[in-house]
Amino acid sequence: MEIDSDTENDREHEAIEKSIQSMSINVSSSDSLHEALFLVLAYLPVYELVVMSEVCMALREAVSKDVLPWLNIIVQNPLSSRLSDDILIKITSKSNGRLTTLALIKCVNITDDALQRVIQNNPFIHKLYIPGCTGLTPEGITIALEILSQQNHTLNILHINGIYNITKHHFKTLQSHLKPALHDQKKPFLYHQYRNSPVNKEGDRNIDVEICPRCDEVRLVYDCSRATCYKQMRKVWFKTDCKGCLICIARCVECGGCVDSEEMEQAVCFDVLCTDCWLLLPKCNFCNRPYCNQHSNLQSSPPGDQGSSTSGFVCQICHAKFITNVVDNDDE
Ligand SMILES: [Zn+2]
Ligand SMILES: [Zn+2]
Ligand SMILES: [Zn+2]
Ligand SMILES: [Zn+2]
Ligand SMILES: [Zn+2]
Repeated sequence: MEIDSDTENDREHEAIEKSIQSMSINVSSSDSLHEALFLVLAYLPVYELVVMSEVCMALREAVSKDVLPWLNIIVQNPLSSRLSDDILIKITSKSNGRLTTLALIKCVNITDDALQRVIQNNPFIHKLYIPGCTGLTPEGITIALEILSQQNHTLNILHINGIYNITKHHFKTLQSHLKPALHDQKKPFLYHQYRNSPVNKEGDRNIDVEICPRCDEVRLVYDCSRATCYKQMRKVWFKTDCKGCLICIARCVECGGCVDSEEMEQAVCFDVLCTDCWLLLPKCNFCNRPYCNQHSNLQSSPPGDQGSSTSGFVCQICHAKFITNVVDNDDE
């Protein structure tokens, strides 16, 4: 189980906003802006793009009038849940039909109709990431890809993990509409690597999900990173016992290796760890449990500590139980 990352994202975005606000104090006119700043715009997700447009008039104009920042549209937290069909149509129209990448991460309000309209208006799109967009259906996505095929275009990459009710039939139809993967499909697909960067650029397979050899369902199916399992995989790739979805095979979030129930260790954040990785991670001073690296920002300094790294940390659970509680009781 993963804990919700919204709070982390919110914090991260607050920090971005603050640093951009401090920039706007220093930037009084477009003359003092470095040209490179305008090139950066093309690489920013929509939220950061909108925040940048508030820095000064020159950036505002660049964001609202230039096509370049809108050729690759990435919508993630904190905007995901606020993105509606109308806003999607509006922001995608800024690319004047030249949109190449559309990444909507957990945008639950987007419907099939809006996706199909965007595809209809943007035939050059070649990367479509829509994981966790639960308002979309496999049938709706298939129609969107058919629209693209009718215009003689195909997607290179499609990510659909988290869309409900994808059957083997849907999977095969969707796959038939994609360009064959350029990269080696036999390159292992490892849990910890995917978890850290689900929208990575190189080495992507053409579709993220596949049919799990164990449960026969369409899910994210991982290979194993353990050296012993990997050797086995080289010889008999598809017969390996530990290739499978996360429901069939538990995996360590740090190394991507398969973990059986006897070896399974749990982090404070409820992520699964193997014994080797558990041993290496720093532990909470109170409960002796680690956070995984992705959630290590949830560590608090121990009482009386001025942020030195040598005195360890206290996890959120122990902080609430032993420190906040003690302070509250003292106040009474
Ligand atoms: Zn499975
Ligand atoms: Zn591990
Ligand atoms: Zn394994
Ligand atoms: Zn603890
Ligand atoms: Zn974690």
